[in-house]
Amino acid sequence: MLIVPEREIADLMTRKAAFDAVEKVFAAMASGEAYNFPVVREAIGHEDALYGFKGGFDRAGLTLGLKAGGYWPNNLDKRGIINHQSTVFLFDPDTGKVKAMVGGNLLTALRTAAASSVSIKHLARKDAKVIGMVGAGHQAKFQLRAALEQGTFEKVIGWNFHPEMLPNLEEVAKEAGLPFEAVELTGMTEADVIITITSSFDAILHADHVAPGTHVACMGTDTKGKQEVEAALLARARVFTDEVAQSVSIGEAQHAIQDKTIKIEDVAQLGAVINGTNPGRTSDDEITLFDGTGVGLQDLAVAAAVVDLAVEKGVAIEVDF
Ligand code: NAD
Repeated sequence: MLIVPEREIADLMTRKAAFDAVEKVFAAMASGEAYNFPVVREAIGHEDALYGFKGGFDRAGLTLGLKAGGYWPNNLDKRGIINHQSTVFLFDPDTGKVKAMVGGNLLTALRTAAASSVSIKHLARKDAKVIGMVGAGHQAKFQLRAALEQGTFEKVIGWNFHPEMLPNLEEVAKEAGLPFEAVELTGMTEADVIITITSSFDAILHADHVAPGTHVACMGTDTKGKQEVEAALLARARVFTDEVAQSVSIGEAQHAIQDKTIKIEDVAQLGAVINGTNPGRTSDDEITLFDGTGVGLQDLAVAAAVVDLAVEKGVAIEVDF
């Protein structure tokens, strides 16, 4: 069995490798070659922790496994370690033998950022110039960095519930040599692409904050009850997702489905656009919306990629197990 510790991931994994792995596995999910297992997520009644498993099997890439982990809200204050903790386990699909154990913390951030970036590549207008960020926490920086690599943006605008966090966005814009402007939510109509990445439980971004032709990537809602955008926005948009079952139950579409603003048939897989079986954006006026709920196969895809890189660079630890 190979071990790739968390400390090695930053030097091994690139945003490009994460992008390629996620784009490929979204395509495999849409063609039926890869599927996610039902998610287990439990409040374990200890340290206020939420713990669970996300797994799946990609028959095309022969990747089988799971990510185990969750959220320990007291970690940072009590122990000086980050609150999100996860580890990916990969298994040999021919034998069931464990193949690798991989640190999953940074990989989770990179695979989540890659997902909105893949959605921008396939759904945003090719002439998109202004990117709007709603959210400015830990994950927002990853989303913005990956999005800017699409190469079309000239300006970053941002809004956050806690305005004191906006310098996080400004820092990433500066890295890319782009101007940054803090705006009110009404100012988001200037954006050609909007990424929402907050832990909100109420709609922040309303339908009239979004101009025709915009691509919106909703990345924060990954649990029942969370919400970032008004259900009316989904009714105005063509809606895409990583996994329809998750989108309508724990993703942004859960609310629009519940109040019957949209139907399950209105939610399409982004992978189908990648494969060319769904046309994706069909006009410059259309609003497209990607509901990125985060699937186990994304974790397995980036973990498999990082194991290959670790073997190549001789930093994978081999144990007889
Ligand atoms: P963080 O704690 O670093 O940042 C939280 C963000 O939410 C900040 O911008 C904060 O200002 C904002 N926020 C907090 N309370 C709010 C409120 N009541 N209303 C509006 N905004 C509020 O967290 P993070 O690591 O940046 O993660 C952000 C979200 O992304 C979380 O909800 C997390 O669960 C989710 N996430 C999703 C995926 C996925 O695959 N879809 C992956 C990782 C994280």
